[in-house]
Amino acid sequence: MNVLQKVLKKGLCTGCGLCESCFGKAKLAMQHNHNGYLRPFIKQELSQPELRLLKQICPALNCKMKTLTENHYHPAIGNYQGFMLGWAKDNYIRKNSSTGGALSAVLLYLIEQQVVDGIIHVGADPDNPYENKVCVSRSYDEIAANAGSRYMPSAPLVNIDEIIRQEGKYAFVGRPCDVRALRAYMEEKNIIEEKIVVTLAFLCGGVPSIKGTYKMLSQMKLTKEEVIRVKYRGNGWPGKVQAFTKDSQIHEMSYNESWGRYLGPTSQLICKLCFDGVGESADLVFGDAWNCNEKGYPDFNEADGRNMIIVRTKLGDQIIRESAKQEYLYLESAQSNPDIFMNMQPSQTSRRKTALERILGMRFCLSSYPRVDWQYLRKICMRKYWFQLNFRSLAGTIKRVFTTPK
Ligand SMILES: Cc1cc2nc3c(=O)[nH]c(=O)nc-3n(C[C@H](O)[C@H](O)[C@H](O)COP(=O)(O)OP(=O)(O)OC[C@H]3O[C@@H](n4cnc5c(N)ncnc54)[C@H](O)[C@@H]3O)c2cc1C
Repeated sequence: MNVLQKVLKKGLCTGCGLCESCFGKAKLAMQHNHNGYLRPFIKQELSQPELRLLKQICPALNCKMKTLTENHYHPAIGNYQGFMLGWAKDNYIRKNSSTGGALSAVLLYLIEQQVVDGIIHVGADPDNPYENKVCVSRSYDEIAANAGSRYMPSAPLVNIDEIIRQEGKYAFVGRPCDVRALRAYMEEKNIIEEKIVVTLAFLCGGVPSIKGTYKMLSQMKLTKEEVIRVKYRGNGWPGKVQAFTKDSQIHEMSYNESWGRYLGPTSQLICKLCFDGVGESADLVFGDAWNCNEKGYPDFNEADGRNMIIVRTKLGDQIIRESAKQEYLYLESAQSNPDIFMNMQPSQTSRRKTALERILGMRFCLSSYPRVDWQYLRKICMRKYWFQLNFRSLAGTIKRVFTTPK
């Protein structure tokens, strides 16, 4: 069994699609598997040099974070240049995006001020409500149309080689693991370094199976066939899921119910074990700056959208400042204290605190595990004696490895 087959068998694939882009559709092609996750279907064996390249670039195999800045460090968010709260100045973008539209506002700045020629990101496939499609957006309308989180599998790197072979400079938007894979690939093949000038990620709590969407629709008393479009977020913060049907009806479900009961629990195995939901490899990371209730837990009552923004690099810092200066982005203050992250994102924080148990659990059950930097793990665990084990988390990881569909 080669390394790609092992990744698939053990359920470690993230579904990013980079392998299809690198080795070609004739050898492997991304498709939903029977559990509703995007996976490469192998048509032809990969050669030894191809397998060697895969080991370096596949985010399931290479989990080493690149240190992008040494400026500041916080155990919950990692290395950072800046941490701030804000939202898009354009009201339509703010309201219709997932959170506060800060990510799309920065994309607008990058396009309209000609910092890049195109944005590589994911949008809904117009021909199939249960698929995502990689788009290259070049205008306000295209960026606005692709805003909003799509809580279903996506493969943002599936045709990255083809896109960057075209003229121009690009920005890339993806999950933390997509950006990590892209960075590793950029390093391996330095030809593309000047093509993708900036990477943007969003905080990621996991990629749900497409079966989560089916279950959610069925709870809304809808069949797959009658739905023509699903919008998971937007029209407020957190907004509601909206399912648009052929007879022009719109059916809704709250964010709390949709994510909490139907989507979140179907996240793929690698996401349940991941400790890089905060996107340590991206220039900029955007997330929900949830208001917290008196117990310190995020409050999902409707409000005006507000993002948290983690700036990792000098370039990211320059982009955020210019986006604010040129009225694309509103920032509450130039710098916020990252301690507030722990209240706003308790589950992301606990993922980092239990990173050691996640890695050990994977190693125990799967014998192979992503390559990690132990010094890095030690830093993020946030405990006095870093090797002191949290046995509950270890047991939880082991249970997840055995019970999560692959
Ligand atoms: C699977 C998933 C899990 C998430 N988990 C968390 C979490 O745990 N905590 C948290 O704070 N935030 C999470 N988010 C991110 C959050 O929903 C917002 O995307 C983020 O706060 C940015 O909001 P925004 O309004 O600035 O983005 P928008 O302006 O709405 O822009 C969103 C961008 O994300 C891209 N995108 C949307 N869906 C996908 C997808 N499936 N794959 C790749 N790219 C996509 C779009 O192309 C668009 O460019 C998650 C998002 C996804 C898709």
